[in-house]
Amino acid sequence: MSNHLAFEMSDHIYTIAVMPGDGIGSEVVGATLSVLEKLAPLHDLHLRYENYDFGAALYQRSGKVITAQDMDEVGKSDAVLAGAFGIPSVRRSDGTEVAPQIEMRSHFGLFASLRQAKLLPAVPTRLKADKVDILVIRETTEGMFAGLKDPFEPSDELLTDRMTITRKTSEKLFTVAFAQARLRKKNLGTRGHVTLLHKSNVLRSNSLLVKVFREVATRNPDIESADCYIDAGAMYFVTSPERYDVVVTENIFGDIVSEVAAGIVGGLGVAPSGDVSETFGVFQPSHGSAPDIAGRGIANPIATFLSAALMLEWLGSRHDDSRCLDAAYHLREAVEQQLIAGPRTADIGGDARTDQVTSALVSILDGGNARRS
Ligand code: NAD
Repeated sequence: MSNHLAFEMSDHIYTIAVMPGDGIGSEVVGATLSVLEKLAPLHDLHLRYENYDFGAALYQRSGKVITAQDMDEVGKSDAVLAGAFGIPSVRRSDGTEVAPQIEMRSHFGLFASLRQAKLLPAVPTRLKADKVDILVIRETTEGMFAGLKDPFEPSDELLTDRMTITRKTSEKLFTVAFAQARLRKKNLGTRGHVTLLHKSNVLRSNSLLVKVFREVATRNPDIESADCYIDAGAMYFVTSPERYDVVVTENIFGDIVSEVAAGIVGGLGVAPSGDVSETFGVFQPSHGSAPDIAGRGIANPIATFLSAALMLEWLGSRHDDSRCLDAAYHLREAVEQQLIAGPRTADIGGDARTDQVTSALVSILDGGNARRS
């Protein structure tokens, strides 16, 4: 079961644990590995890999779920590249789905979920905007989900959830947000701006969020910042998304606005994500295992390609390694070229199969076009 994908560089080896998961997970991860195989040598990256087969299918076959010991093993790698986990009909004894991504979030303390939403060429959208390029950063360990493990008395009359904000997590979260804004400004030419979405007019916990945000902003004077109430801020995603560069917010607000952001740029097939801490990251498309199309070879692999780009960018930033950064931007530019040239899958207006999209992208990388460095 233990498998690793590693980028071996002259003076550094990055080890990536690969978890295809369930449903279309293996289709989109397989496609992404083919792309990485072509991309890596162009940037002097050597790769070797092993797979982990955690997910609902493994549970169905053997009753096995991911354990702390498994995750300690996975944690020896530098990052995880995953597909999707879960089959709706496969349930654990408590009725919940098998979800190793949630176990890993908790085990590795992955407090920030990076959700990139970029309007890509030739991807249909209902939005009237020329340019959208937003990174939503959702806090994932506290906020409105802080009390999930609180003692619980079932009731048909009254139930309560709580929102808890801590200075410690907020400082880490905002430090990531400002660093991401700086990285994007340097490498993508974005504005260098962070917006906090909050509800401090009503929620006491959120006034701490704003206070810590302003303190961290003061320590990052090269990056502009603003804060905005979540209700108006949610509307701006639809009415004037150009105003956003990096958007950061607590758990449930982020859960919702990251999906709005994915929706305005064309949906789940093009929405990448990465759950990160200061030292570890799990990168996977925002979509699930899509049981309705699994096994038919028609899944859109673009979100997983872009998740791999996010992973390379995160590794490059963490290790100050321009080869990873160059590979990340090369991959993103090649994806944009491929979208323009086609073919495209059905969810974004085409009729192509996963392997046709993958071959077209590999050909673009082969031709050396879109190479950044
Ligand atoms: P889903 O994202 O799997 O599918 C929603 C719709 O989007 C479906 O019609 C599907 O065909 C389509 N879709 C999704 N990805 C696509 C792609 N790459 N290309 C083309 N179409 C795509 O969401 P769901 O149906 O609510 O959930 C299915 C399973 O996935 C459930 O078991 C759920 O728990 C799991 N899930 C896992 C993750 C994760 O691993 N992070 C996230 C969400 C859902």
